[in-house]
Amino acid sequence: MRPGLGAKFTLTVLTILAGTMAVSTFYSLNTSSRFYEEQLVERGHALGGLIALVSPEAILGFDYLLLNNYTREVSSQQDVVYGVIMSPQGTPISAHIKDSDPVIKKYFAGQKSNDIQKLLERLNGRAELIQLEFPIAHNGVLLGRFLVGISRQSLQNEFRRQLIIQVLVLTALVLFLSAAIHVVFRFNVLFPIRKLMAASQKVGRGQYTLVEVKSTDELGMLARAFNAMIEEIRREQANLHRQANFDLLTGLPNRMMALDRIGQEINRARRARQRFAMFFIDLDNFKDVNDSLGHAVGDDLLVATGVRVRATLRDADTVARLGGDEFLVLAPDVVNEAQVEEIADRLIKAISEPQDLNGRKVVARCSVGIALYPDNGESVETLMANADNAMYQAKATGQGSAKFFTEEMNIRLRERMQMEQDLNLAIELGQLALNFQPIFSTAGQHHRGAEVLLRWHHPEKGTISPAVFIPLAEATGQIVGIGDWVLEQAFRSLSSWRDRGISPGFLAVNISRIQFKKRLSKRLAELMSIYQVPSTALELEITESVLLDDHSQIAEELTALRSIGMTLSLDDFGTGYSSLSYLKRFKFDVLKIDRSFVAGLPDSPDDVSLVKAILAMANGLDLRVVAEGVENNDQLSFLTMQGCDLAQGYLLGKPMSREAYLSYLTNLQAGSAALPPSANRNERTIGSSS
Ligand code: C2E
Ligand code: MG
Ligand code: MG
Repeated sequence: MRPGLGAKFTLTVLTILAGTMAVSTFYSLNTSSRFYEEQLVERGHALGGLIALVSPEAILGFDYLLLNNYTREVSSQQDVVYGVIMSPQGTPISAHIKDSDPVIKKYFAGQKSNDIQKLLERLNGRAELIQLEFPIAHNGVLLGRFLVGISRQSLQNEFRRQLIIQVLVLTALVLFLSAAIHVVFRFNVLFPIRKLMAASQKVGRGQYTLVEVKSTDELGMLARAFNAMIEEIRREQANLHRQANFDLLTGLPNRMMALDRIGQEINRARRARQRFAMFFIDLDNFKDVNDSLGHAVGDDLLVATGVRVRATLRDADTVARLGGDEFLVLAPDVVNEAQVEEIADRLIKAISEPQDLNGRKVVARCSVGIALYPDNGESVETLMANADNAMYQAKATGQGSAKFFTEEMNIRLRERMQMEQDLNLAIELGQLALNFQPIFSTAGQHHRGAEVLLRWHHPEKGTISPAVFIPLAEATGQIVGIGDWVLEQAFRSLSSWRDRGISPGFLAVNISRIQFKKRLSKRLAELMSIYQVPSTALELEITESVLLDDHSQIAEELTALRSIGMTLSLDDFGTGYSSLSYLKRFKFDVLKIDRSFVAGLPDSPDDVSLVKAILAMANGLDLRVVAEGVENNDQLSFLTMQGCDLAQGYLLGKPMSREAYLSYLTNLQAGSAALPPSANRNERTIGSSS
């Protein structure tokens, strides 16, 4: 186990403390022992000085008894081991040895210390003794010497005792101080550090807890800085959470959050054995609002939609913005379809309530797709996909409608996907072909040209109507390649017929809105130069939907088309949106009355007045008019009488294959194909595929 900070700190303090105290103790012991030794020496000197002073008289008087008293007295002193008075020649005159002293015992164990000289020799230089010598003189004559030996034993004993006491005190002190320092360090440093460590580890686990700040010291400052950092992280986290889970514009949960909520709702509903409904709401033609009123108004509409939807629902319901103009509503605990339908109606009504946006009155419409749990799926993905599918079906039905998901929708979706894949290979596999439907002048019924109509001969499904696959190709973008192929085929046909000396009149080609955005004029100019076909040989049929897109871009492209001499025809007139304003804004040459208006002629008063009005207006705007779907002579007579220039329909000729149209043109040119009586007109449309 690695020592912790506390152990390291305490150990360091302990070592320093023990070291300094040991040095100081050693020093003080040394000093005191030196002082004690000096005292011993001083005592020796005092004794020696005294004996040297009193002895001459006894020596001169040969009073050995007195001398013996002196040496005995000296030896009886504490620590004194021996006292000897020597003659100047070195012969002991009087001596007293303390036999009981441990030093004497050590060097003369069991022996009698009678031989003073031998004894002194043995003791000479011993560390245990302080040996002092004093001259005894009288009137300048040396009478003898006094030798005294003082034991250091008590000094050493005292030193040892002191040492033990000091070591014990020192140890106790060091231990106490260490413990005290450790406790202080633990409470003031380790605890706060551990708290910080724990809080930091929690940060690693994504938990952001504040630590208690108790002091104003560096650790307190560190804790405060840590808390500030945690607060900042919390703020950032909250910010990130908002950005990741909420839509910034409407403040509603975003797709991520919506998916999460659906997951939760599935779990809840499964446990509670309940049903819930999921609504996919998509605003209709939201792009138009953006294009015509600007993005700021578009944003306002989205915000307002969010607010309206929220206000329509219960608190327990979830509203989210999935992106763009798509919203999602989750309504938990629904009992039956009628209840769900009622919610959908409320949603549609709330959204379509007229509103004032930036001074403009806007009526938003929406399409709603509904999927029910568990009926239409038990996973987030299935429910989302099915609600989305139902929404597309609602959109196809018409604006402002809601549709429940049905299994049949999925079958249709799968078919659609299969068709999309098949369509990818259709050109390559030669499954696409052009048909031509003749267009006649009503006056005199002369052939003027033909409309080019695309056909898809599917190997399994037979001939698929362009009304089915063109919208699909538009949705997937495949129309760009297909449209270009149609144009090229039309040019090729014109060029080859002209080469054979046949004058085919004009060819009217249908152009999709998607194609229109891809610099169509440039491509047409290119084809005209490749196939050496003049612009008068071609007409472009454009539906009103083209004109819904970005106006400036459309106007620019229309101008470019006019500048290369293209004839522009407005197809399916009357079925679209605000046709009259478009006619005013964009310049067209031809107007095609949709066959739905021709069908009721001449009996339906509505169709009669509508067609009359269109013709009058076209006349005023100097537009040629083609009536589509002319199927009987009554219609033709009416149109002729009302001054409609051109007609197209089964009565005059059905769409026919390229070969059939070529032989039709050849016959026409040979004069054998003057327009026959109406009874057998249909027989002439040989090769018709419709
Ligand atoms: P559209 O341009 O309005 O074409 C006229 C449609 O009316 C054609 O349908 C034609 O066959 C049909 N029709 C003509 N006369 C009569 C009649 O007397 N009675 C009836 N009941 N129908 C008649 P079709 O060929 O099915 O084409 C449908 C639509 O598909 C076209 O409508 C056009 O919008 C689109 N389409 C066809 N070919 C192309 C193409 O090459 N490119 C693009 N973008 N769209 C095309
Ligand atoms: Mg057309
Ligand atoms: Mg049409």
